[in-house]
Amino acid sequence: MALSLRAAASLAAPPAHLRPRRRATSMVRATVSPPPALDSRRRPQNVSGEFFVDHRCIDCATCRWMAPEVFKRVDDQSAVAAQPTSEEIRTKALQALLSCPTGSIHTDKPTEDILQVQNTFPLPINDDLPGVYLCGYHSENSYGATSYLIVHPEGNIMVDSPRYTPKLANQLEKLGGARYMFLTHMYV
Ligand code: SF4
Repeated sequence: MALSLRAAASLAAPPAHLRPRRRATSMVRATVSPPPALDSRRRPQNVSGEFFVDHRCIDCATCRWMAPEVFKRVDDQSAVAAQPTSEEIRTKALQALLSCPTGSIHTDKPTEDILQVQNTFPLPINDDLPGVYLCGYHSENSYGATSYLIVHPEGNIMVDSPRYTPKLANQLEKLGGARYMFLTHMYV
């Protein structure tokens, strides 16, 4: 009985030196990942790093005045010329990302601080102009026109329309909403 079991075992599994060897190439393939492909949306004019601009940029210049330390005009469109080097500049770059009318600014992976930056809009212009806010969220329908809210006792005035987002609408409501609208850009 013991002999027949040994015989059966030897039939099921050939001796080690007769077993086919695994090819080394298949082991390499299983353990080494290929280098990550470059995001095809990234314009080659961007410097390498977290932030980049894609090919759909309409050259409205919004990002360049919102975060001039980061964005420059290269070959008729914007590109990231330098990655942010401080929290302050990074916040400005994320504000530009949210304000880009074509959604052409990206980070190479999702960022958590974008939620905090959303809460910065509408942005007070400066201390010398109380009650004047930059709305951000530029709209492609107005070729990226800059939208402001002016808080006024006889009714708030909105200059050009931002792109609608529930979060911004909610913040504008808290400031009293807009009674009047002044349009400088119209898309026809
Ligand atoms: S804000 Fe957007 S569309 Fe406008 S210049 Fe910058 S990347 Fe281009």
